[in-house]
Amino acid sequence: MGKIQVLDEQLANQIAAGEVVERPSSVVKELVENAIDAGSSTIDVVIEEGGLTLIRVTDNGQGIDAEDIGTAFFRHATSKIASSKDLFRIASLGFRGEALPSIAAVARVECVSSSETTGLGRRYVIEGGVVKKDEEANAPQGTDVSVRDLFFNTPARLKYMKTIQTEIGHIADYVNRLALAHPGIAFTLRHNNSQLLRTIGNGDRVQAFAAIYGTSAAKAMLPVEGEHPDYDLSGYISKPEQTRANRNGITVVVNGRYIRSFVINQAIMQAYHTLLPINRYPLVVLELGMHPSLLDVNVHPSKMEVRFSKEAELREFVEQSLAKALGKQRHIPGPAAS
Ligand code: ADP
Ligand code: MG
Repeated sequence: MGKIQVLDEQLANQIAAGEVVERPSSVVKELVENAIDAGSSTIDVVIEEGGLTLIRVTDNGQGIDAEDIGTAFFRHATSKIASSKDLFRIASLGFRGEALPSIAAVARVECVSSSETTGLGRRYVIEGGVVKKDEEANAPQGTDVSVRDLFFNTPARLKYMKTIQTEIGHIADYVNRLALAHPGIAFTLRHNNSQLLRTIGNGDRVQAFAAIYGTSAAKAMLPVEGEHPDYDLSGYISKPEQTRANRNGITVVVNGRYIRSFVINQAIMQAYHTLLPINRYPLVVLELGMHPSLLDVNVHPSKMEVRFSKEAELREFVEQSLAKALGKQRHIPGPAAS
């Protein structure tokens, strides 16, 4: 036998987990994104001890078929894409089929799901990649995933975790942004029995915004609208008087996905131009819609980074739309009066 061997599935998953599951908030992100992809109208997130002892995400989405539940935990198993053509027109948040097997490789996972309204579903328990249970269970339609003892079998990663406060901070930040991105979904987030977020899910983005930043901040926002042959843009931006010390108040959503984009941040800052004091940043929530072919989301496993195919055009469009919303507040030096 040669020296080179293909790694077994469990080891491969553990390696992939190093990338996909960086910290508790990565697990929350993957589970909530799955719940959104399943068409849920309510998503409840329960966290204990910064996510190191428990992360539980319960949704009322379409659920997993009984015969599929084991397959969902295989590497590269997904219901979201089927061909390489699909890769260039991704409409779902997930598509890599890596989240569930990666999480299950480094934690104790219980998944109860049903795709039926009969009250009957399936319970699947997998710990450190080892299947412990696969049985019938009572379950309403939807999916309920509990992740316990994250990194119990990867002590080096566990040691790297910061304080509970830091970890729940990352989790809350992420859930807040997904709630902003999806105002039609009712979200709750609880940590050690205190409620950190509740949105009502009536589709009103200002309401979701108010749940996160407070009613008075929400009331003071300026609406943004933009039309373009390739893009549509809507959202809210703060008046230049309402600034923050960092960029964390900027949320950009592209086709339902919360992303980080240098190009769009640049467009935002250019729109405010000299209206902002130095080192101050606005509160912004922008939703951009575009044909999936204009966007490459397959850049990094976390799918937070994307590439736009017409970057300069997009930057210009975003800047112009925001400048218009800022209107008279924006000082545009014109020709000197004669
Ligand atoms: P991906 O989301 O990239 O497809 P995952 O490993 O996150 O990969 O999930 C694997 C599959 O399990 C999904 O494609 C989906 O069919 C199913 N699944 C996972 N979570 C849910 C959920 N909350 N509701 C319904 N189906 C789910
Ligand atoms: Mg997924």
